[in-house]
Amino acid sequence: METIVSKRIKLDLEPSDNNDGENVQISNNWRIKSILSDEHIEPIKRCFVYAGIVDDKKFIGKAMSELCQSMPLHGLNFLKRVHQSKLLLCTLNQMLDFLRENHEDEIVKKIFMTENDLRTASDQMTTSLLKLYMTKRGISLTVVNFLIKKIEITSVAAQAPLLSWQHSDVNNDWPTKFHPNKDLEKLYNGTWFTEQETIFHVQIMEMCGLLRTKLKREVCGIAIDPRTKSIVAIGFDEIDRHPLMHCAMVLIDAVARTQKGGAWNEFLVENDDLAIYTNFNDEFDEYTQSGVSKFIRKLITTENPSITFGAERVKTAVENRQNYTDIDVNGDNLSKYGPYLCTGYDVYLWREPCLMCSMALTHSRIRTIFFHETQSTGSLCTLTKLQSVKALNHHFQVFRIA
Ligand SMILES: [Zn+2]
Repeated sequence: METIVSKRIKLDLEPSDNNDGENVQISNNWRIKSILSDEHIEPIKRCFVYAGIVDDKKFIGKAMSELCQSMPLHGLNFLKRVHQSKLLLCTLNQMLDFLRENHEDEIVKKIFMTENDLRTASDQMTTSLLKLYMTKRGISLTVVNFLIKKIEITSVAAQAPLLSWQHSDVNNDWPTKFHPNKDLEKLYNGTWFTEQETIFHVQIMEMCGLLRTKLKREVCGIAIDPRTKSIVAIGFDEIDRHPLMHCAMVLIDAVARTQKGGAWNEFLVENDDLAIYTNFNDEFDEYTQSGVSKFIRKLITTENPSITFGAERVKTAVENRQNYTDIDVNGDNLSKYGPYLCTGYDVYLWREPCLMCSMALTHSRIRTIFFHETQSTGSLCTLTKLQSVKALNHHFQVFRIA
């Protein structure tokens, strides 16, 4: 599940006035791990089914056609109906529902209240229950008698496997239909990123670590435009100034400044040489550079001259209309329409964001979140996994670099 970083990266910054001569060393024996939904990392749940063991294979075709028509498996269609000489008849839960709803005999209803009651029933009772169930469902008597000669209760997958490891696990019980999703497999196996990409992501997270130490903040966050690998904005936690100024919130605000916005400019923006947050008001396009102050930029470029900064210019309504006819239909929204909030950006946070920050990142249409440390109020893997909530109208990928 992890990508191993084999190459060591040098990212030591020049000691600054704020540094007090600290020598920051971060081990980068780091790996990148995808934070997948629980349904991808937990074993598949099982349920019990009745299987009829058949001795004459000539009847299987006829039995199958009646079963598929009159006794569908409701939600278990990923299971193969025939396995060796066994035919899957119905789940024990389907039988319980049937007894609750249809059986006129109150005594039988009271005897079979749970799945376990059915599992411990005598062979004779099981056979008569199945005979009743199948004939009520419209299976012909010939097929019923053929299928209930010998009955077995067996455990099968209750949900379709999503990954190869789950498929191999459940297939030992009963075969399932399965088409692997290549992207999911790569995320699970830790082969989603190339070695070059891994090195880049680790390098940016190291940068977060070094900046937070040098600037004496708990948390640092960096937003990157993945198309250009350019640093769009940098933010730190500023909760001493305002309780809502968590790192991710400050970072989103810094991204907004690169689009001529920003709600906290009055609180945060300063104009001296050591300013951590600045707003460039030049008449040209410097607003696209206002996510990273000149001071921070200098700290980074001292040792990493190849790093670039800045966002793409915001497109005007007229430009958007003109571009509309020749946009790349396969491109993402960032390449189609230009910057809008954090659309298409990758964010690197030293610490797992809380629920407020995670929701703010969701609303701002982030593409990927990388974080280093977990925290007790973290909402991407500790308290919950916001990225797994299907009801949200925007989704993003989450990775831990540690
Ligand atoms: Zn937060």
